[in-house]
Amino acid sequence: MRKLNIGFNNPKLAFLQKDIRQGGIFYGWDFSFTYGVFRNSIQIAASLLQSPLFDISRPNYLNFGGMGSSIGHEITHSFDELGKLINKFGNIENWWDRETVTNYDLRKKCMINQYSSFYSNATRLNIKGEQTLSENIADNGGLKLTQRAYKEWVQFHGEEDGLPGLNYAPSQLFWIAAAQIWCAVHRLDSLRYHITKGFHSPPEFRLKGSFANNEEFAKDFMCELGTKMNPVDKCSIW
Ligand SMILES: [Zn+2]
Repeated sequence: MRKLNIGFNNPKLAFLQKDIRQGGIFYGWDFSFTYGVFRNSIQIAASLLQSPLFDISRPNYLNFGGMGSSIGHEITHSFDELGKLINKFGNIENWWDRETVTNYDLRKKCMINQYSSFYSNATRLNIKGEQTLSENIADNGGLKLTQRAYKEWVQFHGEEDGLPGLNYAPSQLFWIAAAQIWCAVHRLDSLRYHITKGFHSPPEFRLKGSFANNEEFAKDFMCELGTKMNPVDKCSIW
């Protein structure tokens, strides 16, 4: 299937392609999502419009959880460390007012510290919270956006059925679908490379961080406050 845009000029993607050539992290799907900051647009490979991310014939909680959180991720990039410097026309401009910048700076510190505290047992390395900040902002914001969008969709279209054989509510299946996109395998040396040089946190921590910061997740799975996936101190930027 022809790709709409694989964004070879995007420096972030160029890194990723290099990473894959070196035997990087392999997901269950092709990693062809990009946000073009100078065009303020997102690009999605047409080949991604299939399972596990999207399928027209399956319940929508799976589509919002899979494709929705990926689209939300790319949209949120327009409000990250780079997006804040470039306006909607693709021109360099500080387009936020002072209050927004102050609040953003305060909240981003929370996220930097949180992700820096994540420890990869396999590599014995901590995640680099500063280096991965923009991607973590996009993961957190994108997940929140798509969960709200799904709730709104349900208000208009009604509650969907669950899945046969699985004793989960549709609201829980949304989270399971969103988590499924982070299933990945990797070699130890490429994971080490990914943590040291990458702009993305490893998949395990992309999931842990964005889910643990989301109050709706804790509610839907009845996680007790103060547990790992429902910490008292959550970080939220958007
Ligand atoms: Zn991203």
